[in-house]
Amino acid sequence: MNIHEYQAKALLREAGVAVPRGQAAFSPDEAVKAAQALGGPVWVVKAQIHAGGRGKAGGVKVVKSIDDVKKEAERLIGATLVTHQTGPQGKEVRRLLIEEGAAIAREIYFSLLVDRESSRVAVVASTEGGMDIEKVAHDTPEKIISFSIDPATNICPFHVRLLSKALKLEDKQHKQMGPLLTKLYKAFTEKDMSLLEVNPLIVTKDGDLVCLDAKVSFDSNALYRHPELMELRDLTEEDDKEIEASKYDLNYISLEGSIGCMVNGAGLAMATMDIIKLYGAAPANFLDVGGSATKDKVASAFKIITSDPSVKGILVNIFGGIMKCDVIAEGVVAAVKEVGLKVPLVVRLEGTNVELGKEIIAKSGLNVISADDLDDAAQKIVKAVKEAA
Ligand code: GDP
Ligand code: MN
Repeated sequence: MNIHEYQAKALLREAGVAVPRGQAAFSPDEAVKAAQALGGPVWVVKAQIHAGGRGKAGGVKVVKSIDDVKKEAERLIGATLVTHQTGPQGKEVRRLLIEEGAAIAREIYFSLLVDRESSRVAVVASTEGGMDIEKVAHDTPEKIISFSIDPATNICPFHVRLLSKALKLEDKQHKQMGPLLTKLYKAFTEKDMSLLEVNPLIVTKDGDLVCLDAKVSFDSNALYRHPELMELRDLTEEDDKEIEASKYDLNYISLEGSIGCMVNGAGLAMATMDIIKLYGAAPANFLDVGGSATKDKVASAFKIITSDPSVKGILVNIFGGIMKCDVIAEGVVAAVKEVGLKVPLVVRLEGTNVELGKEIIAKSGLNVISADDLDDAAQKIVKAVKEAA
């Protein structure tokens, strides 16, 4: 789960980390009130969307009068911001962060993330912070340093020295880096974050370290431990189909391709996506209905898939173990009766109650292409979609 910059900064402030003073605003009027409360003489108007790259897309403006705060707020609220992270369709701005302006001497890149390879939290940092970190990573990767933290020791003095040296920090900032790194790491682990990116972490003209931007993602599987974080969720930033799926506890991820997949088991779902690719098409989603799905759950899953206009064909691939093939068949039939079926459907069932499942589908009168195994199923759906196109 992702949250907005202003929410991330509130968490950092709570953790005792230096961030600029600021207030969220949902309208130009609120933006003006926030600016007046902050005092001036410099304000920053920042679009709040779940994507970076806002600076380059005109979503971050430094202004010197309340009039300009109002002007920028009016321009941004309701506008669609297209950044290199939003995709071409962009994201609509519904919230702003109004902040006091900071005097920047230098911009540093800093992040904490879960490094799956070392199974640890890794620190990634660079002197080349600001808006072009992707370019730095591509052109001059030697300017980015990275190391991981041993969970048995947590942050140690040598981590701080390592960072201070790599980031060319002066004595004053080096003294601030120890507490800063400790607090950020503590917030990261306590709140079960998967990413905490501060870009830029600035050195102010007075020589202080301040977090000027903050991007935080949480491990969704750990959210049950943090009801207070669940309240920060902004559904307008999420995919409608994924929200619907989460209501039914379905593991669903929307993807770019044209073949909708309904599968049980994450491994089988991955294999199904791979084999669709192998035969020259692409999956429209990842969907694992789980081992204990009911007829209703299967029907909801099927409806989510058919509601996606980019789905040109559907592949149901079920290996019935705990899951019974007849339950799947009943769910599919119920969903089609309710919402209809306008695209080809290939069903491959195997395992517990397979004969019963096949019978339910045969008797339903649905126009289903049946398949014997996964290979056969993938070829048939790819072929059917190509013929229909
Ligand atoms: P992003 O482009 O979405 O990552 O948005 P950021 O919050 O990182 O802002 C982009 C850039 O705007 C920063 O790298 C800074 O150069 C600039 N910026 C943001 N806040 C301030 C500020 O208070 N003062 C000044 N002078 N520049 C700022
Ligand atoms: Mn940034």
